Amino acid sequence: MAEAKKRRCCWVFDLPLLTEYRGRTQIESDLDEALSRRQFQLMYQPVMDMKTDRIMGTEALLRWQHPQLGLMYPGRFIELAEQTGHIQGIGRWVLESALYQLHLWQRRWPRFQMHVNVSVKQLLSEDLFEICWSQLNRYRIRPGTLVLEITETSLMEDLERVNQLCDQLGELGLVLAIDDFGTGYSSMSYLKQLPVDKLKIDRTFVADLEGSSESRQIVPAIIAMGKALGLSITAEGVENEFQATFLRRHLCDQAQGFLYSKAVLPQIIEGLLAQQSPEPVSRSIA
Ligand code: C2E
Ligand code: MG
Ligand code: MG
Ligand code: MG
Repeated sequence: MAEAKKRRCCWVFDLPLLTEYRGRTQIESDLDEALSRRQFQLMYQPVMDMKTDRIMGTEALLRWQHPQLGLMYPGRFIELAEQTGHIQGIGRWVLESALYQLHLWQRRWPRFQMHVNVSVKQLLSEDLFEICWSQLNRYRIRPGTLVLEITETSLMEDLERVNQLCDQLGELGLVLAIDDFGTGYSSMSYLKQLPVDKLKIDRTFVADLEGSSESRQIVPAIIAMGKALGLSITAEGVENEFQATFLRRHLCDQAQGFLYSKAVLPQIIEGLLAQQSPEPVSRSIA
C-alpha cells in the first residue's frame, strides 16, 4: 500500500522558477570567465554642474556583453557577483579601467571627475584602500577627482566598520558619495557621523517631482539638510526640463539623467567635451 502511494507521488515543477534558477546558475558560472574573456565594459554618464550647465565628470557604469544572453545591465548580475565573491575581481577591474580612462581625460581636462560605484562587499574586504592608493599613484590622479559611490542601504549594513573604512578612504583625499539617497533609513545622526562629502538623491524622487507634491517637499528638504551638513548634492535620473528647473531653483549642485545623456562610450563623452566652450579663466581650481 505504502509502495503504491509512493509511486503515485509526482514532482510539480514551477517552470518560471526553474528557468530563473537555470539562468542564475548559468550566469554564476559564466561570471568565472567574464573578466578573463574581456566581456565587461564601462559606459560613462555625464555629471552636469547645474550652475554652469557643463559636464564636470562622468559616472562609470558597468555593462556585461554576455555571449549568449546579450548586453546585460548590472541589475542582473551585481547582486549575484556579490554573493559569489566575483565582485572583488570585477570591482578591481572597474576601478583600474575607470582610473585609466580618467588619466587619459585629465590630460586634456585636468579637473575632470570620475564617479565609481563600489559595493559594500568591496569596501568591507579592505582591499579597496590599497587598490585606490596604488591606482591613483599609478596614473597620477588627484584624489579629489575620484568619487566613490556607495548605496545608502548598503552603508547601513555594518555602520561602525563602514564608518572606519570610509574614514581611511577619506584620508586618501577621495570624495565619498551616498548613492540612491532617500531609499534607506539614514537619520540625521548617521549622516553627521559618516565621513561623506556628497549625497545623490535617488531618481524615484526626481521622477515624481511633476506629479507628487510630497516629492516637491522632500527633494528641497534633502537638499537643505545635505547643505546644512556641508555636503554637495547631485540629483539622479533627471529626464526633463521641469525637473532640471525645479532642482536648479532649489540649489541642487549637480545633475545626471537622460535629459543630458545616458551612459555612453568614451568617444561620445570626448565629443561632448570638445563641443563645450572653454571654461571661463576666472574660476579658480577647486
Ligand atoms: P546607480 O549608481 O544609481 O546608477 C544610476 C542608474 O540609473 C544607471 O543604471 C543609469 O543608467 C540609470 N539612469 C541614469 N539616468 C537615468 C534617467 O534619467 N532615467 C532612468 N530611468 N535611469 C537613469 P545601470 O547602469 O543599470 O546601473 C544600475 C546600478 O548598478 C547602479 O545604480 C549601481 O548601483 C550599480 N552599478 C553600476 N555599475 C557598477 C559597478 O561598476 N560596480 C558596482 N558595485 N555597482 C555598479
Ligand atoms: Mg551610482
Ligand atoms: Mg543611484
Ligand atoms: Mg540606483
